[in-house]
Amino acid sequence: VARNPGEDEFHQAVAKVMQSLWPFIRNHPRYAEHSLLDRLVEPERSIVFRVSWVDDKGEVHVNRGYRVQHSSAIGPYKGGLRFHPSVNLSILKFLAFEQTLKNALTTLPMGGGKGGSDFDPKGRSANEIMRFCQAYMTELYRHLGAHTDVPAGDIGVGAREIGYMTGMLKKLTNRTDCVFTGKGLSYGGSLIRPEATGYGTVYFAEEMLRRVKRSLEGLRVAVSGSGNVAQYAVEKAMSLGATVVTVSDSDGTVVDEDGFTAEKLGVLMDIKNRQYGRVSDYAERVGAQFHAGKRPWTVPVDVALPCATQNELDGDDAAALVKNGVICVAEGANMPATNDAIRVFDDNDVLYAPSKACNAGGVTASGLEMSQNAMRLSWPHEELDRRLQDIIRGIHGACIEHGTRDDGSVNYVDGANVAGFVKVADAMLAQGVV
Ligand code: NDP
Repeated sequence: VARNPGEDEFHQAVAKVMQSLWPFIRNHPRYAEHSLLDRLVEPERSIVFRVSWVDDKGEVHVNRGYRVQHSSAIGPYKGGLRFHPSVNLSILKFLAFEQTLKNALTTLPMGGGKGGSDFDPKGRSANEIMRFCQAYMTELYRHLGAHTDVPAGDIGVGAREIGYMTGMLKKLTNRTDCVFTGKGLSYGGSLIRPEATGYGTVYFAEEMLRRVKRSLEGLRVAVSGSGNVAQYAVEKAMSLGATVVTVSDSDGTVVDEDGFTAEKLGVLMDIKNRQYGRVSDYAERVGAQFHAGKRPWTVPVDVALPCATQNELDGDDAAALVKNGVICVAEGANMPATNDAIRVFDDNDVLYAPSKACNAGGVTASGLEMSQNAMRLSWPHEELDRRLQDIIRGIHGACIEHGTRDDGSVNYVDGANVAGFVKVADAMLAQGVV
């Protein structure tokens, strides 16, 4: 704490991982040698820079840009860029640390990183967004490379922003290497990348349920958020026979007791992805209820898929979900459940799995995009979906291997943390003290 003052989210993420690792390291003391843990929690490099840009009225704005290059132990730094006013070094360090373990779980050769800016895209014109992305890249480009650091999207950074940044990067470097994933299909993007995080989260939930001889078919599901991850979580949950009754944004929650349909999801995607509107607009369009300022967690459901942002589900929310009979919680967003919430789920035998296991589908598809770009080939949708499902099943298996308790139940937090750690730690030990 003294070394990283004020970095609450980073402390929260590291503490949670360390709680999982202590018992494992007690039995495997070689992982405590050579200050391995001290090295693991210190990013290899954190870059902080000024981003100056001009708005449509000619006024100059100054934002702060970041890239945390956490670990290259098993491959190039890999992780998204986030544009949101809440972005700071603590949040990006927590995300980059988690990303390192998550990427290891995929078994693909990717290290961990995360970046972004405190820029707020809300209310900005397309031209302002483009100018900001270009200004951000004028510094970041020198730190990236297909074998060095390969960013992707995250909150506030979707296909449009990746396009603008890729364009500027090419202009600055005169190269067309794969330095971003999440690219448009017309310039090197991969099928299934947009769907992969949401789909992967639902595939993981289905694996957890399958293990206890259940399935999503016929279950009620609450999804939070309404962005990229949430939209495709809704789509896949529906296609597996679940009834999805909520979505949300930072203004409030939509509750639709009739459940989503393909048509309603089309309306939501149009409002969020093309009109950059709010879920309240969506509720009005489809005649659903909108609860301003409310989260989805008091609505009775069997399965909860938090897909918005960190710490969006606290101990009280978890208690409300448990009271209403929730059986499974799979995290689409990064670290949406607080430690209090996780304790409540654990105490009440709810199947709960953390983001680094559940939402690894996104970075998995990114890793597959890198492979296709390197080969100058495009795999078909079915091939990519099959690989995605295989990898998610593999991550579930790794959680079972490292997280099964004496009574036969599974602690997915411990399982994911230990499995990811072992891979990164083995690579670090093999490469010496660097
Ligand atoms: P988007 O920007 O597409 O959507 C984010 C959603 O979360 C929006 O509905 C947004 O609402 C909501 N949200 C953001 N901040 C808050 C807040 N403080 N309170 C309530 N709602 C909020 O982002 P993504 O869908 O890409 O990302 C969502 C989560 O998933 C993040 O945690 C991200 O790190 C994680 N993730 C994403 C991956 C991807 O492939 N996209 C991969 C792995 C993880 P509003 O418009 O009001 O801000």
